[in-house]
Amino acid sequence: MRFGLKRVKPNKKEIRVSELIQGITRREFMKYCAATAAVLGFSKLEFATKVTELLAATTSNKPPVIWLEGQDCAGCTVSFAGALNPPVASLILDTLSVRYHETIMAAAGHQAEAAYHTAVKEGGYVLIVEGSIPTADDRFCMVGGLPFKELVLEAAANAAAIIAVGACATYGGIPAAGPTGAVGVSKIVTDKPIINLSTCPVHVDHLVGTVLYYLTTGKVPPLDKYGRPTMHFGELVHDNCRRRSYFEEGKALNDWNEPKQKNWCLIDRGCKGPDTYADCPVRRWNGGLNFCIDCGAGCMGCAEPTFYSQMSPLYAEASGRLYELKQKMFGKIAPLKNNKKNEV
Ligand code: SF4
Repeated sequence: MRFGLKRVKPNKKEIRVSELIQGITRREFMKYCAATAAVLGFSKLEFATKVTELLAATTSNKPPVIWLEGQDCAGCTVSFAGALNPPVASLILDTLSVRYHETIMAAAGHQAEAAYHTAVKEGGYVLIVEGSIPTADDRFCMVGGLPFKELVLEAAANAAAIIAVGACATYGGIPAAGPTGAVGVSKIVTDKPIINLSTCPVHVDHLVGTVLYYLTTGKVPPLDKYGRPTMHFGELVHDNCRRRSYFEEGKALNDWNEPKQKNWCLIDRGCKGPDTYADCPVRRWNGGLNFCIDCGAGCMGCAEPTFYSQMSPLYAEASGRLYELKQKMFGKIAPLKNNKKNEV
């Protein structure tokens, strides 16, 4: 898989060739290994060795990937393309051979169909599904003249591993709030384990981590009861949030224009962090730059199976269990004007 990746250009005066790993400095490589190894359950050295072996082994024999898109916005594909940076992530995804991906493949029409059928016939590929599957009527999503549901079932039959990416492919996502009867892959494919990477869109590190885990161990990573890898979805957003101390103090932001409230807890603005399992506060997004809560928007709960229908409205006062939690912690705070309790 190549998208004309921009690799780090070594400064020849400072870096010897022996210090480079396929155009990436050893320091960068080891830094990435240090950050990723612990999450995957390896020591830094063990992980670096495994990745180096993997890169050598897959130069001529890249594991094939089929990427299907159903009812989606292609946001996960955009997130996947974000692997251009950091370059080490792109290097790891480069160990895959994407045989079929409607949005990024050069082929179209019958040529694309032929590439898909050849890959399915050969089998043993990693199947990645983006987008939900309609169950109310097949005509809501047809690809190449076939109902998307049939396509998913057909591709799943010969797959070595199946990864559902994004809120739509995992649990139905935003389309599940509409009339199409949208569901995630695990409601359609019931005879194989489905790895659910459920944020909206998928986090490229979650995809890289899962692919790495699979390629280096040959196994599906440990999953929680919703099929999410516990290495990425094992902790509550609320438990790692930098606004948590304000939550404990009972300081909740209720006016975005009030400077003294700018770092306060966002539970009154609909934050779903106490009900959402994901590593966003520590991993962050866009190359570790930022994430929703640090931008001043509450967590939307996009990693949870109840997203979107039971997490909306996004900026309203906390609902259900969150409301009770808020009452317990913030009992001394008067209810907001014009802000009713959001019933689920
Ligand atoms: Fe952070 Fe949201 Fe928890 Fe407040 S409710 S501490 S903003 S995760």
